[in-house]
Amino acid sequence: MSARVVVTAVALAALAAASAQALRGDAGVQGAAAVTVLRPARVFDGEAIREGWVVVMRDSRIEAAGAAASLVIPSGAATVDLPGMTLMPGLIEAHSHVLLHPYNEASWNDQVLLQPESLRVARAVNHLKATLDAGFTTIRDLGTEGAGYADVGLKQAVNQGIIPGPRMLITTRAIVATGTYAPKGFSPEWTIPQGAEEADGDALIRVVREQAGRGADWIKVYGDYRAGPRGEAMPTFSLEEMTLIVQTARSIGRPVVVHASTPEGMRRAALAGAETVEHGDGGTAEVFKLMAERGVALCPTLAAGHAISQYGGWRPGEGAEPARLVQKRATFKLALAAGVTIAAGSDVGVFAHGDEARELELMVAYGMTPIDALRSATSVNARVLHLEAQIGRIARGLTADLVAVAGDPTKDISAVRQVTFVARNGAIVRRPR
Ligand SMILES: [Zn+2]
Repeated sequence: MSARVVVTAVALAALAAASAQALRGDAGVQGAAAVTVLRPARVFDGEAIREGWVVVMRDSRIEAAGAAASLVIPSGAATVDLPGMTLMPGLIEAHSHVLLHPYNEASWNDQVLLQPESLRVARAVNHLKATLDAGFTTIRDLGTEGAGYADVGLKQAVNQGIIPGPRMLITTRAIVATGTYAPKGFSPEWTIPQGAEEADGDALIRVVREQAGRGADWIKVYGDYRAGPRGEAMPTFSLEEMTLIVQTARSIGRPVVVHASTPEGMRRAALAGAETVEHGDGGTAEVFKLMAERGVALCPTLAAGHAISQYGGWRPGEGAEPARLVQKRATFKLALAAGVTIAAGSDVGVFAHGDEARELELMVAYGMTPIDALRSATSVNARVLHLEAQIGRIARGLTADLVAVAGDPTKDISAVRQVTFVARNGAIVRRPR
């Protein structure tokens, strides 16, 4: 009996050590020089372009940023010259799926039903590296799509320095109303594993708490889906259910993110208190006005529809633009006109990880200025994700998540693809040759 007590005590100590490690989180990332001075041609600090600025990193923090003449450079500091380059806050991707890979390589159904979770995790390790190398130092990953709680371990692996990757906010399995999601089309006698967890009514309370308890930073909900009698998108959760989800999540500090592309699905999400709406393809002026009034951000995922249209055979610049993209351009303009906060998020996973810049290019092609697209992917996303005290700007005291690109992306947004330098948490993971 006493031996059992000892074993229990040892197990508890191990658990305590493990949770202390989890709490320390990013502390596991190694390799930062003590003090490094970065000398780019210009700085985009998350708000504006600053000519002639230098940035000083000490360990994991930005110690100083400003005009070179105004700063005292610590003696013994290492210098990284970034000639002709723009130094920016690490980019933030607000809608990713690291456990998916492009649908022209394997359909979503096949990924969910045929691929072992271990295979999907192996791919995700590569996806995380590609994302970080592309200058995206933070992602909000919006559902494992059938891969259970695999995002929890991936996040721990990054935080413990086991694999390279961006800072992760995760949502685990995500929640769908019974019978509304996918894979679909099988004999009704069979129970087919779904790409998210089904729950309805009061059971939503337990599922929200369970996903949060197992590691979800945000609660992801499908507010509508192709559940209509002809497979058309229709609202799934009632306003009462959506409100129950938001109240339950909010009381334990988890914001709610809602997939919605119908006006009614978006309206219920906004009224219930969701913080971001994903896609919004069918949004109207009225529902965007409601979102703006309630401070609900839109993650437009322009790149997802653009990629799927190409998988259907369309080539950009050739022939008429597909109807779904014509509609997407129009509704994106309505959102901008209504003053909705735009959170840069691409649904990457539908297309290749490491190619997140597509979304920023499309935001500009569809009507935003380059600097607004950059603000969206930095300071705005940091605010939307409740991380503004840590990341999203280049300012004294913030975490040293930094990326440099050749050229000036406020003049040509595609410069964000020319990544030459990446630091995450003060650790330089990529530098100019
Ligand atoms: Zn998605």
